[in-house]
Amino acid sequence: MQAYPVATINLAALKHNLSRVKQLAPNSRVMSVIKANAYGHGAIEVASALADSDAFAVARLSEGVQLRAAGITLPIVILEGVNSAPDLHTSAKHSLSLVFHNESQIDLLDAAQLTMPLHFCWLMVETGMHRLGLALNEVDSALQRLSASSNISDKIGVMSHFANADVIDDERNTQQLNQLKQLMIQDELPTSMANSAAILSYPESHGDWLRPGLMLYGIAPFDNQSAQDLGLKPVMHLQSVITAIQELKAGDQVGYGGDWTAESDATIAIVSIGYGDGYSRQLSNSGFVLIQGNTAAVVGRVSMDMIAVDISSFSHVSIGGKVTLWGDDLAVERVAKQANTIPYELVCQVSDRVLREYKDGEA
Ligand SMILES: *Cc1c(COP(=O)(O)O)cnc(C)c1O
Repeated sequence: MQAYPVATINLAALKHNLSRVKQLAPNSRVMSVIKANAYGHGAIEVASALADSDAFAVARLSEGVQLRAAGITLPIVILEGVNSAPDLHTSAKHSLSLVFHNESQIDLLDAAQLTMPLHFCWLMVETGMHRLGLALNEVDSALQRLSASSNISDKIGVMSHFANADVIDDERNTQQLNQLKQLMIQDELPTSMANSAAILSYPESHGDWLRPGLMLYGIAPFDNQSAQDLGLKPVMHLQSVITAIQELKAGDQVGYGGDWTAESDATIAIVSIGYGDGYSRQLSNSGFVLIQGNTAAVVGRVSMDMIAVDISSFSHVSIGGKVTLWGDDLAVERVAKQANTIPYELVCQVSDRVLREYKDGEA
């Protein structure tokens, strides 16, 4: 059976990137963030490969349950927490750790009688992002309630999240960290603040528990530094194949809407990848791919299953030839820029139709 498009996931690179996290912050522990199917890389395979983590974090309960069902035994933190009694019981049953970010979640906990207490839970504190979290003046009473609860067996940690960590030296990062530090002075509680960008650029924010996501996948969070600059190795290599080659006459149009017109005679290759695979439609007339190590421009609109690329200047290209959409030699960060988005979105969007192939060779 034809197996393209395929996303090859380099587990050795993934492990290398985890060791890079530890090298940058040797005194902190690592909660590897594997939400959204490990940023499109496959949550179960990634969790198994990252067994040297101290814990995992996912966004939602269903993601944690899926990992437990696959036999993952490390602590798993549900970053959004839960909002109903049944979900609270499910969390306890699967030994999943919760983040509490508002009073009503703590009300639920107080009202429940869990057969197994929760462990390794966190309070999310609002320090400037205004997404999830309790205001600073609500933290003390929330912490008291959580530590008094018989449904929690150990110390609560205090967590917050940067809104601008990808902008190095943005003073809002310092302001956010200072808010969290005020709490650290009062209580001897575990803290967690740093995502990838903060791990890489803001050592003062490391605290007790790091929460790297993007960098584990070998992707740079900053505009002006590549993964290689940061000592990271790309994990996903997305490839497909040429399924047709068309000879065009000057004036011929390509694809839906005839959005691209050949100015002179041209040759285009049709590649088996489209927005149905997660290849962004924003790359219509603006993306580029790699064929035999050279870039070829995407011409016309990205359709659901196919794209067209200009191979007029290529020789020796044939049907069945391999095409790199991103990965080794074509950074997903660059492709994201062409698509007017962030690399997070591109890797998360790689759909189920794309085969994931795992290799653990030389990184
Ligand atoms: C997704 C997420 C992270 C990981 O962020 P990266 O930028 O991918 O490193 C960390 N913390 C929270 C709360 C998140 O939602």
